Amino acid sequence: MGVLTIQLPNKTYDVVIEPNGYERLATEYAPLLKTTDRIGIIVDETVHTLYSEQLKRFEQLHNEVHTFIVPKGEACKTLDVYGRAQSFLLQKGFTRNSLLFAFGGGAVGDLTGFIAATFMRGIRFIQLPTTVLAHDSAVGGKTAINMPEGKNMVGAFHQPEAVIFDLNIFETLPEREWRSGMAELIKHAYISDATWTEQLLQDEQFVQPAFDTLEEQLLKGVSVKAKIVEEDTFEHGSRKFLNFGHTFGHAIEAATNFGTLSHGECVMIGMAYALLLSEKASTLQQGEAKKFIQFAKQQGYLFDSIFEYSFETLYQFMQKDKKASFGTLHFVILEKIGHPNVMTVDESLCREVFEEMRQ
Ligand code: NAD
Ligand code: MG
Repeated sequence: MGVLTIQLPNKTYDVVIEPNGYERLATEYAPLLKTTDRIGIIVDETVHTLYSEQLKRFEQLHNEVHTFIVPKGEACKTLDVYGRAQSFLLQKGFTRNSLLFAFGGGAVGDLTGFIAATFMRGIRFIQLPTTVLAHDSAVGGKTAINMPEGKNMVGAFHQPEAVIFDLNIFETLPEREWRSGMAELIKHAYISDATWTEQLLQDEQFVQPAFDTLEEQLLKGVSVKAKIVEEDTFEHGSRKFLNFGHTFGHAIEAATNFGTLSHGECVMIGMAYALLLSEKASTLQQGEAKKFIQFAKQQGYLFDSIFEYSFETLYQFMQKDKKASFGTLHFVILEKIGHPNVMTVDESLCREVFEEMRQ
């Protein structure tokens, strides 16, 4: 049984990770459901098709449940879908006492969170995440939709009432999504704990672990995220450490036009880059980057894209990253495993690391 309590100055909530997590809705969360006049379930088309039986069980939790189906993936994080969902809730008579369920991956979580943050100036919502990656996105209260000008450009901080993982949901998760989620998991290890990092590096079933291992690993991942969010909810300081691997990772993601590689697969490449940088410009022990790259390749992560783009192309994308300011880039580096820091890096050093990566 895995429960972790997140304590923020204005809100305390539980993250539940266990095989039959959804059963808690009818028991532990019954008092919360009693205080709501309506439940709105936002679900993506894939999860809706795969889990129609589960949706029926959710519908039995209350006498007014309304389901709104959205496109899968980033296609749901648009102003258009956001607007249509708000109209749907208004037409169904939702009020400030209503509650939303986000039933899907990180995209549905971000969209639903933003709808909940803004519907009638803010209503409650519960995250029911269905991807491994969502151990990262469902915790911490960042919600957003995309704009034509950029990803996650319009959003709000809005914390959920609860985050409930039901491990059975992972049975249908495609391998690519496992790969994406486990990349964020090992990121949480690298920025927090050398022993845990080593344990993951030794795990031959890293990409798709057995359920009991997964429960333990996800709890560890969530607790790293939770601790950082508890310290720095609004990203003035240590929350930036969660961007480890993301500056170069985002550049690869943008260069490949958010298509061929998943977010986590790009972050994996970005972490290799950040580890090389950490060896070169900080105190990380030599050889750590090589060890990580070997591990990642063994686990089937692809590094071909670093040969497909020039440094100039990727550097341009790095500069567009939200974390760049006034021409210098801010990178999260590791002084040693488990000890992250933020460093400003100039173009020539960026190039040097890039060249080294291609050797
Ligand atoms: P996603 O929600 O797009 O899901 C990935 C794909 O998996 C989708 O096609 C979905 O239909 C499918 N899927 C989901 N659950 C499934 C299941 N159980 N079985 C089969 N298929 C399933 O993506 P994601 O990777 O979960 O999340 C990525 C999103 O999270 C991005 O939009 C990113 O910006 C956001 N994010 C937010 C934060 C945050 O702090 N708010 C942090 C990290 C990422
Ligand atoms: Mg990420």
